[in-house]
Amino acid sequence: MIGIGEKVETPAYRLPIEHVGDPSNEVAALFSSPLKRAISVSGTFGELRSNHFHAGLDIKSSNGQVGEPIYAAAKGYVSRIKISAYGYGRALYLTHPNGHTTVYGHLDRFMPELEQYIDKEHYKRQRFELDLSLTATTFPVTQGQIIAYLGNTGSSTGPHLHFEVRNSMTEEVLNPLEFGISVKDTDAPKIFSLKVYGKQQGIPFPLMTLPVINKISSRFELEQDTILVNSDFAGMAIKTYDQSFQSSQRLGVYGIKLFVDESLQYEFDMNTFSFDQMRYSNAHRDYEEQSKSRQVYHRLFRLAGNKLPIYQKKDDGWISLPGSTDGLRRIRIEVYDHENNKSEIKLFLKRSDGPPKSLPGGSQLVSFDQPFSMQKGEVKIDIPANRLYTDTYLDYSTQAKENSYSLVHKIHDPSTPLHRSYKLAIKPSGLPANLMKKAVIASISGNSVSNQGGKWNGDWLETNVNSFGSFAVKIDTIPPTIKPVTFKTDMTKNTYMKFKISDNFGVSGDAKELVYDAYIDGQWILMELDSRNDVITHRFDYRTKSGKHSLRIQVKDDRGNTKTFVQTFLK
Ligand SMILES: [Zn+2]
Repeated sequence: MIGIGEKVETPAYRLPIEHVGDPSNEVAALFSSPLKRAISVSGTFGELRSNHFHAGLDIKSSNGQVGEPIYAAAKGYVSRIKISAYGYGRALYLTHPNGHTTVYGHLDRFMPELEQYIDKEHYKRQRFELDLSLTATTFPVTQGQIIAYLGNTGSSTGPHLHFEVRNSMTEEVLNPLEFGISVKDTDAPKIFSLKVYGKQQGIPFPLMTLPVINKISSRFELEQDTILVNSDFAGMAIKTYDQSFQSSQRLGVYGIKLFVDESLQYEFDMNTFSFDQMRYSNAHRDYEEQSKSRQVYHRLFRLAGNKLPIYQKKDDGWISLPGSTDGLRRIRIEVYDHENNKSEIKLFLKRSDGPPKSLPGGSQLVSFDQPFSMQKGEVKIDIPANRLYTDTYLDYSTQAKENSYSLVHKIHDPSTPLHRSYKLAIKPSGLPANLMKKAVIASISGNSVSNQGGKWNGDWLETNVNSFGSFAVKIDTIPPTIKPVTFKTDMTKNTYMKFKISDNFGVSGDAKELVYDAYIDGQWILMELDSRNDVITHRFDYRTKSGKHSLRIQVKDDRGNTKTFVQTFLK
């Protein structure tokens, strides 16, 4: 009866796509709020998050707790259930006849029929992580029906609902505020500082960062309103956040406009994007600045490799500066939120005399849109085209072995963003044959070492990594650990048991997370993983009768190092 793994059926009654995102027609009223109360948000659509744009609205819990009922925003059916220790945690997808899908993330419990269904699926598949596609007839819902309860599961840092609207056909995400979900917002965004860049050979480089003063309400100024720039072209970036009504929470802005001599030169609006474009957020922001100072700046110029669709102007945002005696360019930057509360900063740019700043060194020029391969001694890298966002002078150096079976290869700089992974291969030296299976390419950053995975190709250990940095061959022979958090021999009064599982290395690149399984009297049991605390929890149910039982938990790391915990207990 249930088509698990089947493709979601395409409803025939779809709205034309041009209605999407247009609040002036009936589309705006398609959805009701997923919470039946005034809502406030802790995250806006398009907000710059780690390696992505925030794809929905984060709606705060009314009392800081989990458990509030969540209502279907429109009639439709449950089309997907996803359960993961990461990302949206326990998430529900509803497909609606209006051509949209709504997504509800970080949920605590689902409605009882769904809970029963999910419990069966866990045990049938003997898996905690689930990703189930359902047809229209399995779980239909009406608008305003309770579908689940607000929670804090997955990559969440406090009880809230992550609410998303998608185009069912293209899976593009849309700004929920365009669909009749309203949030009181009377405060204009704040501008904190401004950054100015020059460019040479098409490569941008930062010139200066300037603090911004708030003169009156939404008017911002520099200490000195004229900036001297030692480059033929100037680019700008600003650090800015929105605030909603009576909240000091820093929220993402909806859009920014850059005017040069009162003509619009650059503009973006956070209306829609697709998941495969998310990582371009590292091109939109000044990634280098963020990785070094944790400050988030929106660039007001486009890097050559940035293919995001959010920019309204074809112009790339670079401002040409006339010769030093030829006058000034008048700049005005407007920042606004979805309710069109606006802030503004005005300034002048002037070309200064003197030789332009030289680009940072680096021996090898890599064109962002061309593939690049390099072999130097015991290291090989293959970077496919369009991994970088701008042409880059690549740095490479080595350092002595550091508890490793190779030199430490320092490949460029971790503050240069990559759109996808590239191939890295290292030839180890002095590695005993019996440890080949335990060898990994490790990335080393200060005291932190993470396993990037590794497969043998002749004498070379290969993997895919998605950052630059320092890499060396290390071995992992240490099994994970299993530590009881809530477990003792007498569990007659306990409704659940908890264990902490951890490992010596973090994982990234091609390396796999810990794999665990648990059994009571030889029967597989569901243990839910909380990835924020590395804790696995089993809630006792009808399957465990009163009496004496044996528990076995097994945890395996990426290199096959295994730890087993065995003990009997009374229930
Ligand atoms: Zn969210």
